[in-house]
Amino acid sequence: MAELEGLEFGKSDFVLLDEVTMEQFMENLKLRFEKGRIYTYIGEVVVSVNPYRQMDIYGKEAIDAYRGRELYENPPHLYAVSDAAYKAMKRRAKDTCIVISGESGAGKTEASKYIMQYIAAITNPSQRAEVESVKNVLLKSNCVLEAFGNAKTNRNDNSSRFGKYMDINFNFNGDPTGGHINNYLLEKQRLRSTFELFSLFQTTNNDRSNHKAVMSALDVIGFSKEEINSIYQILAAILLLGNVEFGSEGEIVHVVDQDTVTHISELTATDPESVTKGLLYRTVATGGGDVIEKGHTEKDACFGRDAFAKALYERLFGWIVSRINGIIEVKDYNPVLHGKNTVIGVLDIYGFEIFDNNSFEQFCINYCNEKLQQLFIELILQQEQEEYQREGITWQHIDYFNNQIIVDLVEQQHKGILSILDEACLTVGKVTDTVCLESMDTKLAQHPHYTSRKLSPTDKTMDFQKHFRIRHYAGDVTYSVDGFLDKNKDLLFQDFKRLMYNSANPVLKEMWPDGQLSITEVTKRPLTAGTLFKNSIVALVDKLACKEPYYVRCIKPNEMKSPVLFDDARCQHQVAYLGLLENVMVRRAGFAYRQQYPRFLQRYKMTCEYTWPNHLMATDREAVEAIITQHGFQGDVAYGHTKLFVRTPRTLFTLEQERATLI
Ligand code: ADP
Ligand code: MG
Repeated sequence: MAELEGLEFGKSDFVLLDEVTMEQFMENLKLRFEKGRIYTYIGEVVVSVNPYRQMDIYGKEAIDAYRGRELYENPPHLYAVSDAAYKAMKRRAKDTCIVISGESGAGKTEASKYIMQYIAAITNPSQRAEVESVKNVLLKSNCVLEAFGNAKTNRNDNSSRFGKYMDINFNFNGDPTGGHINNYLLEKQRLRSTFELFSLFQTTNNDRSNHKAVMSALDVIGFSKEEINSIYQILAAILLLGNVEFGSEGEIVHVVDQDTVTHISELTATDPESVTKGLLYRTVATGGGDVIEKGHTEKDACFGRDAFAKALYERLFGWIVSRINGIIEVKDYNPVLHGKNTVIGVLDIYGFEIFDNNSFEQFCINYCNEKLQQLFIELILQQEQEEYQREGITWQHIDYFNNQIIVDLVEQQHKGILSILDEACLTVGKVTDTVCLESMDTKLAQHPHYTSRKLSPTDKTMDFQKHFRIRHYAGDVTYSVDGFLDKNKDLLFQDFKRLMYNSANPVLKEMWPDGQLSITEVTKRPLTAGTLFKNSIVALVDKLACKEPYYVRCIKPNEMKSPVLFDDARCQHQVAYLGLLENVMVRRAGFAYRQQYPRFLQRYKMTCEYTWPNHLMATDREAVEAIITQHGFQGDVAYGHTKLFVRTPRTLFTLEQERATLI
């Protein structure tokens, strides 16, 4: 067993703080970071601080130390939570999930990789070939999604611009049989700049090996040569679209460099005239049912080009994901033969974002976090309640802030912000962002979590024309309504869809099924970006809600990617909006740990003269009572029907320490 940490490393569980204050919390977090202890618990939640350096804690020895052990038997680690999720899944046939959140660069994706690696390492001990191949494909698909979904941003060299949820399926043996991936809101906006896409065509040595790794991963997963080729052709076309410029003479707009367009048409297996036409004109149906071609203004042409590039990227990414899903999907599963099919889900999703300038993307992300927070509260409290009832322990009510009201502010039918936005997008004529803001002000004036400059004129931090503010559970965020409508509409001219559907490249054609509709058939308005996002998040929450959750909360210690710098203000900000203090309070209000009597006895019987080496009492429960009483912990525990409930981990740590001195 690994040595438990000494006190010089700070408290390994925030529940052990003398007082639950921000000051003490931060002090402990900082001390542990400085001592190279990047993980700390809040009960079963892991708080992780990005070390920005290679840590020697993920090797085979570590995996062996954590395999099959209980959480508090080892120092805090991702592996311990992974093991807890795995054990629950295997022993109790429970579906579980691990929710990893935090801001960009906080270490979410790295954490998800370590979790996957751990699960891969502890499963299939008999090395059955078909299981090994499933594991290999699951790990490789992660690598591909990272390569295509990531962008080099100034905040993170390898920032995932999407949320990713991966289900791993297991058979009754506890071996992986397949999986499924869902992705959420790929931030097309940020992927547009050619600079970022270049990372997939890298030329330096380091990058070339990365490129090779992606190619080989695609191959291992099962993509065909043609498919891999198409992927790179589409990426090249997206890059080239960034070079297309427009000029105009009077009303007539033209493409400046026709060769680029020709090149794009070659890459997309379309003809150059159609591409040019798609870039310069749009087909519209008149009221009388006629179809006419309308020339773009230069501004419209630029808008169309950008939307086209973004959509190409989005469809490509979506297609890669669905193609991977087709390959890793569990096939021929026979429950009679293979037992219940259980699942561990791993969610890697951006946490709250509060920038200097917050736009539609932050609005969506923060709404998503409200939903996840609500789920967290519901699941934790509901689980507690059920377990206390089962075990015959009096339930103590825990007072917490229910953020349903904020969720409603965003998603409620007709009255919520998303509905107001959709309504504005549907209105024919010139509805501007500012008009939309006015409509929000009118409808939401009474809402306690909404305000704007108009509604609180003395607040000089907001602009009349632009700003509204939401009081999120994690704090106030001021959003700029600039661009909200365009981003919500996410308009792509139908002409581009038809162009791609008519491509001679079957892969490309497959990505654009909606391109087969003729202009007169396109009557139904596509769902807005906001509504699509909402639907996907609601579906995600439904998926998570039926699983037993485990949480990893990631913190970025500084903006410099420095392994030694702990930026107090930045860290405190994150601790606040991750709701960690509240989390500690909820944990302390209930029983932090619980343990079946026989198991508890087995582990600690040597610490008590009445139970070592064997007890003479009628039941294990009585023997456990003897241990607890001998140590004077009566006030800290409750006895359930099958389990001992321990309020603070201090009790367990003391027992652990005593045990360590005796063995
Ligand atoms: P996020 O997914 O939250 O945006 P990443 O997981 O991509 O952040 O982490 C950003 C960078 O921080 C990584 O590329 C890596 O350099 C570093 N990093 C994160 N977690 C660890 C870790 N556990 N050990 C070492 N370096 C890490
Ligand atoms: Mg990431």
